[in-house]
Amino acid sequence: MAYEEEQKVAIAAVLKACDVAQATFQKLVNDETVTKKDKSPVTVADYAAQALVSTLIGKSFPDYPLIGEEDATDLKTEEQASVREKIVELANKALSENSGTSQDQAVWNIVGKEPLPTETWLDAIDRGNAKYSNKGRVWALDPIDGTKGFLRGGQYAVCLALLEDGEPVLGVMGTPNLPLDYNNPSSGKGVLFVTTKGSGAFQRSFTSSELQPIEMAKISSLSEASFCESVEAGHSSKPLNARIAQLMGITKPPVQMDSQAKYCSIARGDGNVYLRLPTSATYEEKIWDHASGALLVAEAGGRVTDMHGKPLDFSRGRTLSGNKGVIASPAHLHDQVIKAVQQALSESEAGKL
Ligand code: AMP
Ligand code: MG
Repeated sequence: MAYEEEQKVAIAAVLKACDVAQATFQKLVNDETVTKKDKSPVTVADYAAQALVSTLIGKSFPDYPLIGEEDATDLKTEEQASVREKIVELANKALSENSGTSQDQAVWNIVGKEPLPTETWLDAIDRGNAKYSNKGRVWALDPIDGTKGFLRGGQYAVCLALLEDGEPVLGVMGTPNLPLDYNNPSSGKGVLFVTTKGSGAFQRSFTSSELQPIEMAKISSLSEASFCESVEAGHSSKPLNARIAQLMGITKPPVQMDSQAKYCSIARGDGNVYLRLPTSATYEEKIWDHASGALLVAEAGGRVTDMHGKPLDFSRGRTLSGNKGVIASPAHLHDQVIKAVQQALSESEAGKL
């Protein structure tokens, strides 16, 4: 299988990062002195997750650059000493602790289980600053995608993608708060999504080692569809989304969800269409917010383009500077979705919305 070694390491790294995120959230909930509005615990979880993933993939594939959302510049100052200590403590604890899942041994085989010094963790975070290249292999990482969802105890995702020559070829996403079966909340939370270009889309629970194939729901017309969108009004234009849904004959209310869990949900048939219409003319989507999710949907039988129907172009750098917005839907219905999107956009430009 292609990218077999990369997939193994990426799974171990993403699951370890999920452990550290969940442990930080538990601390947050149990710590009376920290309110959920406080930004610092989030920052701590973001950094610790990036530190762990970067260390594991960096040791295993030292020649692959990492494009990560975070860098450690702000952490090196004296006033950030306590935040820095917390990150190091969390990362070392996650490294040494047995989380009871199959990734522990894989992690120890790569870096051992002894605590690592602060410098090593900070360097690992900083590796995410690498220069993007559309030649050869590059990792893209969002250590905690959907920070707001993370804070609410809602959906968030650790998202790692491998790009080769400017195209996503491997995606691994961990969604600690997503139920394994959407229709059965007691099926247990914590789902890992894995996809490799040309090999399909898969999911498994955090504790199982068996990947199960997933695919988009088979709907014959858009009127049967349900769609999902961001919770955050600033990340996607809800009036446009609503008008598009109306034009498609969708009657079900949107499912609002943070993070790339939206891609995961439609890839396995919980919903059908993901609409992300820009709220500003200048915002450029980040590659780490879409690379793994877009590949998962494509491999599950979907199509993912921008709002004009242009394929997402991951070859330009850290952002999707050649695209505006993101639309994901079942491949055979995608042209119809884009037609509705274009109509809603022209109504909006004419001031009719
Ligand atoms: P979501 O959880 O789908 O709403 O998306 C979360 C991601 O949205 C974050 O990781 C940010 O990188 C990204 N983001 C931040 N600002 C914007 C914006 N103005 N438009 C679109 N996405 C944004
Ligand atoms: Mg993100």
